[in-house]
Amino acid sequence: MLKTHNCGELRAEHAGKVVTLAGWVNTRRDQGGVVFIDLRDRWGITQVVVNQENSAQAHEVAEKLRNEYVAQVRGEVRLRPEGTRNSGLDTGDIELVATEIVLLNPSKTPPFYINQDSKVDETARMKYRYLDLRRQRMQRNIVLRHKVVKFIRDYLDEQGFVEVETPILFKTTPEGARDFLVPSRLNPGSFYALPQSPQQLKQLLMVAGYERYFQIARCFRDEDLRGDRQPEFTQLDLEMSFVERDDIMALIEALMIDIVEKVAGKTPMFKPFPRIRYEDAMEKYGSDKPDLRYDLAAVDVSDIAGKSGFPVFVNNVAEGKPVKVLRAPGLGKRSGTALRKLAEELETMARGAGAKGLAWVTLPEDESGEMKGPIGKYFTVDQVLALVERTEAQGGDMLLFISDKRETVWAVTDVLRQHIARELGLNDPEKLAFGWIIDFPMFYWNEDEKRWDPSQHMFTMPLPEDLPLLDTDPGKARGSQYDLACNGYEVAGGSIRIASREIQEKIFPLIGQTPENAREQFGHMLEAFEYGVPPHGGIASGIDRLVMVLAGEPNIREVIAFPKTQAGADIMAGAPSPAEQKQLDELYIRTTVPDPEK
Ligand code: ASP
Repeated sequence: MLKTHNCGELRAEHAGKVVTLAGWVNTRRDQGGVVFIDLRDRWGITQVVVNQENSAQAHEVAEKLRNEYVAQVRGEVRLRPEGTRNSGLDTGDIELVATEIVLLNPSKTPPFYINQDSKVDETARMKYRYLDLRRQRMQRNIVLRHKVVKFIRDYLDEQGFVEVETPILFKTTPEGARDFLVPSRLNPGSFYALPQSPQQLKQLLMVAGYERYFQIARCFRDEDLRGDRQPEFTQLDLEMSFVERDDIMALIEALMIDIVEKVAGKTPMFKPFPRIRYEDAMEKYGSDKPDLRYDLAAVDVSDIAGKSGFPVFVNNVAEGKPVKVLRAPGLGKRSGTALRKLAEELETMARGAGAKGLAWVTLPEDESGEMKGPIGKYFTVDQVLALVERTEAQGGDMLLFISDKRETVWAVTDVLRQHIARELGLNDPEKLAFGWIIDFPMFYWNEDEKRWDPSQHMFTMPLPEDLPLLDTDPGKARGSQYDLACNGYEVAGGSIRIASREIQEKIFPLIGQTPENAREQFGHMLEAFEYGVPPHGGIASGIDRLVMVLAGEPNIREVIAFPKTQAGADIMAGAPSPAEQKQLDELYIRTTVPDPEK
């Protein structure tokens, strides 16, 4: 080894020891006869003192060092003089007095600061990802990720799980996204699909008798990328036999609590995790992955608003559309321009989510004040009192009214609720609020295709009591599925599976699969189910999102070593890129690329 210790490990008790460190120059301060170098590696920073009188050689090299040069330093550890100790640094009690320095490699001036957590242009970070990853914050995130994954592996191993690798080159999987296809040279005109998840294979492993399977699995979905999506991502994928819904939820809940407490050093806000029915989550929070760090629940006031003088509410209620109120505590205290600006922002968001406008009022802080807002005048004093009681509002609050068809009310509730929380600073990344969402509908109606879409996937078992609804009223059937939300993100989701060919075959026509198509795509599953299939269920948890939430980062790119940009590109290596004609010929592929001008 070119070093005896790392840059984060030397302490007072090492004083007097001769050691060798190696790493990058974090900073360098030249004070004439003495040069101070902060030498950095993955473990930390150690101050090196280079004194011309002590070592002319070391001093000569130190003069040439610049930020990010790679150097090896030999010297003696000594206690820093009284008054110069740095309690902000793990190694702040000592310094290394250099006797010899070897310049291992110089560095060009990096395109951004490595030694500071300053804001850097995203494109530059992606193009020079190896430099971005050298920054302390990224190293902390990547190491946290490693620790989370290692913890999961050890934890599940102890519980009798077996990690099994499943193929990357496979067949289309039913997670509902677009597949990435890989042409087969040996089978001209045929394609593999990259797995959207190992769903079928993990279920087949249950048929195969493994009982407790997991995998840290790479998954691929060719979707349009949003902040928390990547075309390739990593899941903790897990499946168990002879279990019920509560068994899997209990296992994952215990695992998550341990990860949060033992790996991330934080405490979940709620233990045990609350369980919220899908209907309630949508009615209160407008989301099936609500941010539970705050409540801010929507309250139904249709009965009161329907009798107000505001024609929109009266008509909506008559048509069966609800009127709901979100209470923004204290935001009504903003005066004049600030209040108007806030109301405009909220209205723009509400419209973006499908609303036709946004009605609001503010409650006066005391009796001498008056209500502000466009619709205050339509309510009688008694109606206002009833609204205040129903919403538990207080003076100085702002009440936002949402009225439309149910789905639109949900969507608007979701965006407004999140914005109110941001305005009030309730979205503290240090807090972790996990909660289960259960009793999802089995299907959502797809109006364009005039068929049902599975809300999770086609292998989800209905709740036992809802099984008969598959024949009579599939829209009312609930699935035995469970999602785990944390801070407004879905961090895990799974279900008890259908373990009978008969029930599985009922699902296919509902979701628009012809028997031929189903046999062609999933014949192997149906066949396997005839050879003694155990009752089974499982779950998958997105590692990227989980680590993002644990690290308090706003974006999964911060916890993935080499992520893609929003356009699905790796701009460091230049991928994707056109293939050579010879490669295409071997694959029997002809490309017709649209003219970018058109
Ligand atoms: N395969 C599902 C997913 O990737 C999870 C599961 O049902 O286990 O979302």
